[in-house]
Amino acid sequence: MVRVNQHQLKKAIRYADVRCSNLGGKLTEKRQQVLEILLKAKKPLSAYELTDQFNKVMDVPILAMSVYRILDFLESVDLVHRLKSENKFMACSHKSEGCQHQLSMFLICGSCNKVIEMNDANDKIKALFEQVEILGFSPGESQLEISGVCCQCKAKLPKVNKRKLE
Ligand SMILES: [Zn+2]
Ligand SMILES: [Zn+2]
Repeated sequence: MVRVNQHQLKKAIRYADVRCSNLGGKLTEKRQQVLEILLKAKKPLSAYELTDQFNKVMDVPILAMSVYRILDFLESVDLVHRLKSENKFMACSHKSEGCQHQLSMFLICGSCNKVIEMNDANDKIKALFEQVEILGFSPGESQLEISGVCCQCKAKLPKVNKRKLE
């Protein structure tokens, strides 16, 4: 997840608007506001955290129920992903370009909660799907979540250990 600046945010919203109308939906004001919070977030948020943040910055409060409905919609048009292992939501990292989501891969850092979304145009993953199809199985949209430690957190680890030893 990379935090977006104002220019990237505008671009992402413009893309989201086009994507929604292409798929027969509409990026309403509330949907856009929820998406903006996720685009600005440093880590995935639960629906309740999202509701809290929404109500902190917006004048008209929103109910968690409505946030769930909005997230359902944003997920259905691939603008938002739900991390199943954490039940949290994040904006799609492919903010302003169309991307295939046959297989979304997420690397989840257990130390800082940052999530990296990997592009699925990877040869090995393509080969894996070809293998699956050879078995006569038609794979739907799938999601792979790999938990571990990100490189920044890993870099910090030896220092912490060293201090403990002193
Ligand atoms: Zn995505
Ligand atoms: Zn980390």
